[in-house]
Amino acid sequence: MPYHFTFDLSKVPRFFFSEIARVSYQKGMHKTLLNTLRDIIKNFRIQEATGLNLSDAIILLQDFIDLQAVNLIERRKFIKSQKRALLLPHCSRKYMDSRCKAFFDASIPSYTCAHCSKDCLVNKADHFAKKKGYDVYVVPGGSCILKILKEHPYEGVVGVACGEEVKMGVAALESTDVAVQVIPLIKNGCANTAFNMETLVNVL
Ligand code: SF4
Ligand code: SF4
Repeated sequence: MPYHFTFDLSKVPRFFFSEIARVSYQKGMHKTLLNTLRDIIKNFRIQEATGLNLSDAIILLQDFIDLQAVNLIERRKFIKSQKRALLLPHCSRKYMDSRCKAFFDASIPSYTCAHCSKDCLVNKADHFAKKKGYDVYVVPGGSCILKILKEHPYEGVVGVACGEEVKMGVAALESTDVAVQVIPLIKNGCANTAFNMETLVNVL
């Protein structure tokens, strides 16, 4: 499910994301968290850079922090995992129409990238992940994850999607033994979306 608002954090400095990581260490400090978020939004001019209003920016940042916390909690277990999968969102493909030459397997459902465009984010992520030994799925939604796991018992899963979708995926895996790492999109909108390739490389 998408957010009720659209965002594009691609013009936000990278230091913003390290600040998010730093704040997530303070997750126990609930009383100060809201003020900290307001300060970060102000310092990084998030409202000006994205056009978001304050309450939407806070929702977005809160999700980034929650997901960063998931990554920190799960990291050790994830590093020990052997058989891993990367789930990429179909909305980050360069094309969403017939110009995308990916093969679609409706039984999963998932696309397999056919590498038609060098500058496609999904193509780049697919190349890198496969070199690292990951199986890669380009999926239309987080609900596919349980179906994939039923067929392939992965020990570690990296999920890339917008915060809302990632949260649903994480909740679906809560009762399993699978180690999770998540990468929230920095630009949503359900088409031409973006994730940070450097973050993906670091997580994988
Ligand atoms: S590179 Fe892959 S995902 Fe991107 S448009 Fe081509 S086939 Fe589709
Ligand atoms: S932005 Fe992408 S991941 Fe999020 S709901 Fe839309 S299609 Fe799904």
